[in-house]
Amino acid sequence: MLNVPSQSFPAPRSQQRVASGGRSKVPLKQGRSLMDWIRLTKSGKDLTGLKGRLIEVTEEELKKHNKKDDCWICIRGFVYNVSPYMEYHPGGEDELMRAAGSDGTELFDQVHRWVNYESMLKECLVGRMAIKPAVLKDYREEEKKVLNGMLPKSQVTDTLAKEGPSYPSYDWFQTDSLVTIAIYTKQKDINLDSIIVDHQNDSFRAETIIKDCLYLIHIGLSHEVQEDFSVRVVESVGKIEIVLQKKENTSWDFLGHPLKNHNSLIPRKDTGLYYRKCQLISKEDVTHDTRLFCLMLPPSTHLQVPIGQHVYLKLPITGTEIVKPYTPVSGSLLSEFKEPVLPNNKYIYFLIKIYPTGLFTPELDRLQIGDFVSVSSPEGNFKISKFQELEDLFLLAAGTGFTPMVKILNYALTDIPSLRLDVEFVLSAPISEWNGKQGHISPALLSEFLKRNLDKSKVLVCICGPVPFTEQGVRLLHDLNFSKNEIHSFTA
Ligand code: FAD
Repeated sequence: MLNVPSQSFPAPRSQQRVASGGRSKVPLKQGRSLMDWIRLTKSGKDLTGLKGRLIEVTEEELKKHNKKDDCWICIRGFVYNVSPYMEYHPGGEDELMRAAGSDGTELFDQVHRWVNYESMLKECLVGRMAIKPAVLKDYREEEKKVLNGMLPKSQVTDTLAKEGPSYPSYDWFQTDSLVTIAIYTKQKDINLDSIIVDHQNDSFRAETIIKDCLYLIHIGLSHEVQEDFSVRVVESVGKIEIVLQKKENTSWDFLGHPLKNHNSLIPRKDTGLYYRKCQLISKEDVTHDTRLFCLMLPPSTHLQVPIGQHVYLKLPITGTEIVKPYTPVSGSLLSEFKEPVLPNNKYIYFLIKIYPTGLFTPELDRLQIGDFVSVSSPEGNFKISKFQELEDLFLLAAGTGFTPMVKILNYALTDIPSLRLDVEFVLSAPISEWNGKQGHISPALLSEFLKRNLDKSKVLVCICGPVPFTEQGVRLLHDLNFSKNEIHSFTA
């Protein structure tokens, strides 16, 4: 079902303005957009009230700054004066005030994990939290162990080892020309989507997604390796092998030295997103305002975006890093698109609508072939297991909400041969020649299209579009007796 956006689109709470997942937005006053905020941060105005000085903030001091016009918040050990930002916050002043005068890291991670606050709030930085003497002592002990090449086990690691899924481990072995890093996940549902590898400069990172956690291998390799490597998964035993090619055929005494969070299992919500720079390979018009972008991953990256998941694209815009979510599609969308002759799984395709007055998309559109844009690791909670024994699949998409449906359709039509495809276009503002369906999402439209083949057939309804479309759609689906498990709505 296609719901063509009206002139006033995006509506005040539309997906196109979504800055975080699923929470309420408040309408911002005139002159309080993200671009206006960036302008203010560049104006040279003293936004902290400290005339550029950075201070050490004690807990007692932090607590004192808990009012709207004097509001300090600590995020990951750094303290920001967010009072000047209040009116620009898409989630509203009250949401910011929930963390006033305290450590807001957890609250922040629940809704903003992907927002690059360091860049957005850099002019509001008051300083660091003062480290308590006891903590300082432990910290120095840990540092000594790192310097000696021993990895301190983090607190996170200890907790998860006791309470989390069975703890993964890794090992490595070598031949004259190869080094193999083996990761034992001890999980059965591991595949090539579960592992993301980035080898850049001196840092080798392998993130394995294990349920809601990341198991991180993060090492400065002891010797040089070739750019190319291969990744294999032995699904039956949950083993992943990353095979690196040595630059010189010498024997390595050790794999390398541990870098930050090496060998830890960290809840995904507690980790920042990792970005790598991808090159723009092609840009093709699909409609008057929508383009298919093809980005190429760096040669030393292994990353596959699972069906139904999105990534974040990041670009510096007038000196501030701006991040927006996008759902990769498959390159086969455009029949005449000529794929460059390069190895498989090296490209990510995006179908993106350009808003001439938007913040991010005009900048993206200005990129030249060969330019770079940063791409995050994938996010999202859609699970391919939802397709098991599926009999009916309904996809409801409005506007750019079509994008997650592309890979779902590809998968469903290839892997579930019993499915028959019907497409219905519904236009909300059609031209006079249009003689198909028109209107907005409504009980009448949904009950007409969403009919189960059998009374008890296994059904999945996926819905994506501007927030009002998705929210109303989900309500109507419940009214039509679709259960929570039968509905998947896509949000950031
Ligand atoms: P914005 O700056 O957000 O502006 C968009 C429009 O709103 C402009 O016309 C602007 O003038 C207007 N506007 C902005 N602020 C205000 C205001 N305060 N008052 C009135 N009008 C205002 N999009 C895609 O094209 N493809 C995808 O694959 C895709 N995937 C997504 C996946 C997820 C999970 C989510 C949440 C969103 C996705 N989006 C996708 C939307 C995308 O993230 C951006 O929101 C979109 O590209 C707009 O970005 P922008 O910065 O260019 O525009």
